[in-house]
Amino acid sequence: MAVPKKKVSRSKRNMRRAHDALKSHAYGECSNCGEMKKPHNVCASCGHYDGREVVDMDAAV
Ligand SMILES: [Zn+2]
Repeated sequence: MAVPKKKVSRSKRNMRRAHDALKSHAYGECSNCGEMKKPHNVCASCGHYDGREVVDMDAAV
């Protein structure tokens, strides 16, 4: 088993973890209702995609 030769200092450990933060996901505005939605996904609030209704939100309850 590979074993670390030296204890990693707090400084080096924190330098490594400096890049570990999670970034927020990309979000875009729905062109139909203006609600925030994921790109390339049907809008969760109005069911529109690419300018037309693809999911009937009244039926999909
Ligand atoms: Zn929408």
